[in-house]
Amino acid sequence: MSEILIVGGGLSGAALAAALLERSRPGSAVRIIEPRPELGRGLAYSSPLPGHLLNAEAYRFSLQPDDPDHFLRWLARHVAAGSWPEAPADLRNAYVPRAIMGLYAQQVLAQAAARAAERGAIVEHVQRDAVDLSLPEQGRALLTLADGQVLAGDAVVLATGLFPAVPALQDDARPDLPRRILQDPWDPAAIAALPKDGAVAMVGSGLSMVDAVVSLEQTGHRGPIHVISRHGQMAHPRRAAPAGPDALKDETAESLVRLLRKVRRLCWVELVKGGDWQSIVDPIRPHIARLWSEASDEVRGRFVRHLRPWWESHHHRSPPESGALVASLRAAGRLSVRAAAIHVVRQAVDGRVAIELRERHASEPAVLHVDGLINSSGIEYDWTRIRRALPRNLLRRGHVRPGPIGLGIDADAGGAVIGCSGKPSDRLFALGPPLRGLWWESTAVPDIVAQARALADRLAGTVAWI
Ligand SMILES: Cc1cc2nc3c(=O)[nH]c(=O)nc-3n(C[C@H](O)[C@H](O)[C@H](O)COP(=O)(O)OP(=O)(O)OC[C@H]3O[C@@H](n4cnc5c(N)ncnc54)[C@H](O)[C@@H]3O)c2cc1C
Repeated sequence: MSEILIVGGGLSGAALAAALLERSRPGSAVRIIEPRPELGRGLAYSSPLPGHLLNAEAYRFSLQPDDPDHFLRWLARHVAAGSWPEAPADLRNAYVPRAIMGLYAQQVLAQAAARAAERGAIVEHVQRDAVDLSLPEQGRALLTLADGQVLAGDAVVLATGLFPAVPALQDDARPDLPRRILQDPWDPAAIAALPKDGAVAMVGSGLSMVDAVVSLEQTGHRGPIHVISRHGQMAHPRRAAPAGPDALKDETAESLVRLLRKVRRLCWVELVKGGDWQSIVDPIRPHIARLWSEASDEVRGRFVRHLRPWWESHHHRSPPESGALVASLRAAGRLSVRAAAIHVVRQAVDGRVAIELRERHASEPAVLHVDGLINSSGIEYDWTRIRRALPRNLLRRGHVRPGPIGLGIDADAGGAVIGCSGKPSDRLFALGPPLRGLWWESTAVPDIVAQARALADRLAGTVAWI
């Protein structure tokens, strides 16, 4: 009997488990270690709020790589059953609530599990946190859970997903400040508890901020919102723009300046023609993994330092409905954006939160008083900064090492983790967001689906999957 342990039961863990189960034989077992009560949801698809939407049209979200309309057919049945009464007529181009995507991922896994069970293979959800891993020279990998239980596996896959960035906003010496500082922008109960007419500040202006604005609005907040970010670049709303010329098809990663000039020029040409710059940005996406893997660390570093805010705001665009909400709040004067760096967060004499910040190009710092502060600064990709037991222990034991330019963890192109030995492991693998440093874009559903399939093929071929 062979056994594969998947750490993390979000979309990556569920997609990989489903792909493995499709390749399973009698006696094979997949165990998914995931503390959340439900599999398939993870951070992105656990939100119950109907306003938290997928950031692209429904037709892009099939979890079956050979069947691009799989999600659309599932969605049509879901709507026909009356489970999404607000669904628009054009499902193909609909922006679906993320909670529905989570349900779809669960059902894909449940169907794969049912087919595998007929062949005598099993999948089990172990509702625990994994905290440590031992890779003895001989024999199976040993995964320690938070309750001290140890699971043995022929292979362990890190599908640990996204770790929210936790900037140092909280002053531990001020016990009543934490109530007003929300580190988790996806906690609707904490957001609902903020004073309804109070002023709220958000640190970060990307998609996490957009989600937090939707949460505030849907829980009845009517006060002013101050968005603070270093560059003040807001996520643009996605529009249905026809695909334009393929700007980077024959390009190499040698000169970032040349690539940027070319893309900018094509955007201007498009705008002058009365078109949309989004027509130029979308065709770039399929070339990102190739260009990133060709690029030297120096070029990658320059991209992150100088172009990342631009890439994040122009590529990681918001669903149109959420974008329209942010725009309407801005137009009404309720939401303002400040390009500024935060110096200190402290408690003011009136009990509110005082944020000392320095706006770009300002000579003097300013102080902003708010009733709540939401951390919407996005995702932490540097594993050395993640304060969770498993990443720490994996780094400490040398089972993993930081990925290119310190992003995520190192691995070969097929997801075999490379630790301090410098060699790809034959028992430890990873997929999805931990491979950020390898591919730059390694978090969107299509990236994860492709990686899950390739990794399932690899594991089915290398681990005794019988
Ligand atoms: C709010 C949000 C919205 C998004 N929207 C979209 C979208 O619209 N379209 C799109 O393509 N992509 C979107 N993404 C990208 C998203 O990352 C992927 O689509 C996908 O959900 C990633 O899944 P994952 O399983 O790798 O990560 P996660 O969803 O982060 O799941 C990882 C899971 O691992 C578990 N875990 C972590 N460490 C341990 C441990 N030590 N032991 C046990 N379990 C552990 C966690 O509990 C978690 O449930 C979004 C991301 C976020 C955060």
